[in-house]
Amino acid sequence: MTATPTTSFADLGLSEATLQAIGELGYEEPTPIQARTIVKMLAGADVIAQAQTGTGKTAAFALPIIEQLDPELRAPQALVMTPTRELAVQVAEAFHAYGKFHKHVAILPVYGGQPIDRQLRALRGGVNVVVGTPGRLLDHIQRGTLKLDQVRTVVLDEADEMLDMGFIEDIEAILKETPATRRTALFSATMPTPIANLAKQYMREPQRITIQAEQMTVPQIRQIYYEAGGRDKFEILARVLDFEMPTSAIIFCRTKSEVDSLGERLVARAFPAETLHGDLSQVQRDRVMQRFRTGQAELLVATDVAARGLDIEHVSHVINYDIPLDPEIYVHRIGRTGRAGRTGNAVTLVTPRERRQLNMIERMTGAKIQRMRLPTVADVIARRRESFKETLRETITNGGLEPYLIMAEDLGEEFSPTDLAAAAFKLLLDQSLVETEDTLAEQQQDRFEDERDGRPRRGRTREFGPSQGMTRLYIDVGRDDGVRPADIVGAIANEAGIPGRAIGAIELFESFALVEVPNNMSEKVIRALRHTTIRGRKIAPSIARPPRR
Ligand code: AMP
Repeated sequence: MTATPTTSFADLGLSEATLQAIGELGYEEPTPIQARTIVKMLAGADVIAQAQTGTGKTAAFALPIIEQLDPELRAPQALVMTPTRELAVQVAEAFHAYGKFHKHVAILPVYGGQPIDRQLRALRGGVNVVVGTPGRLLDHIQRGTLKLDQVRTVVLDEADEMLDMGFIEDIEAILKETPATRRTALFSATMPTPIANLAKQYMREPQRITIQAEQMTVPQIRQIYYEAGGRDKFEILARVLDFEMPTSAIIFCRTKSEVDSLGERLVARAFPAETLHGDLSQVQRDRVMQRFRTGQAELLVATDVAARGLDIEHVSHVINYDIPLDPEIYVHRIGRTGRAGRTGNAVTLVTPRERRQLNMIERMTGAKIQRMRLPTVADVIARRRESFKETLRETITNGGLEPYLIMAEDLGEEFSPTDLAAAAFKLLLDQSLVETEDTLAEQQQDRFEDERDGRPRRGRTREFGPSQGMTRLYIDVGRDDGVRPADIVGAIANEAGIPGRAIGAIELFESFALVEVPNNMSEKVIRALRHTTIRGRKIAPSIARPPRR
């Protein structure tokens, strides 16, 4: 398999304003369909793209349209037809987001079920992009409320779906009303005959864009997926991590912003996670990779671009928090596990809307991705017991038990070996398992609480504690308050009178910060900080809740 040569958004000939909007959305690079469609549409060609939802097709047509709108012309210049009202609204929202820095983008979704007079008023007000279902669009055209004489671009989005919904005649009627000089872009997952005929009749030398359908080979690893519909996706991930217990995992997200917010939520739940994306400096990247390689951080949350250049030998799990927008990316991602003959696990979270993408990945890789039931709390506990037994076996095999044998023999005169072992297990496990159970139940209940107060929650039985000899403090100000690590070091050093170099790792989040200070200084630091301000904010420091074992 050859990797698709990578193109950047800047290479595509987009304006600064568009690049800025894309940057804010956290997109790092165009998807294959975007890379190929945008250039062709900017050049004015008609295109037929075989692409379905979840491939980034909306931006593929919206970006060139936005680029080419004439700000002086207050009349519909682009017309997008969609099969459903839901999609019309989504496309309109996407135009808003992509056109954020182009002042003149005025878009209107029109669809049945919405009061027509509102739509009429908006249309008179100088809308330049209209998105809607063919039925409602035709309605407006026939009433004379939608003028198409200035239309330069027509997009047929999900054409095969429109065909299935019986819209083909309406589409033809609309196309006939638009200027012959218009450019037409057709997006469809499949190409049934009526759609191919439509293309033949109404399009001029269309350029075809298909995403290569060559069979791809994937490593022999366990590939599973979890349905992530309805409930908070993060909660599902947390449960899956608790159950899968990865020793090292890369968790892939689609955008930089998702990487940041997922990373913060994981850390706030005491999962040992680090984040990696294109905005980090080389020094920051090196630090993150160091923590990941040495196992200090078990989880690496990353975008595809950031992970691409990484030299990572093997990870136990690749987790697709977002399903990739392209099957080839899926193959790249999961190739990071199951290396050198070791067992690998690829876990994908899939929302109902993304089922088709999952099917496409299965088709193109020839691999079966097995659906798994979301583990219950009981499953997690059973898994931990199993894992504990495994650790016990290893401990016995590894030896070095002499200091404890005397104790065991002493008690062995009073009790049977089985009772003795059972009591030791109870002491060791009960607390952590009961707490796991409590915590999982609690997480279910308060799943939105983290976002509200951003406070780190206790949560896990595995260790993710402060460095040796250090105590981790929680400070209730963060990036959103304009705080930088230097402010925290300054406050601690000045107020508590301890040298800056004695202060350990500082982790800065949106609404809070975690900072490590030497054990014997923690009380002093807390007392001193209570009487100070950081960036003008009074603070309430406390010892961060310890992780559980
Ligand atoms: P679509 O196929 O247009 O429905 O897009 C699917 C999802 O991918 C949407 O949530 C988009 O915001 C997102 N998306 C589109 N293009 C990119 C990109 N280049 N990088 C990251 N995410 C993207």
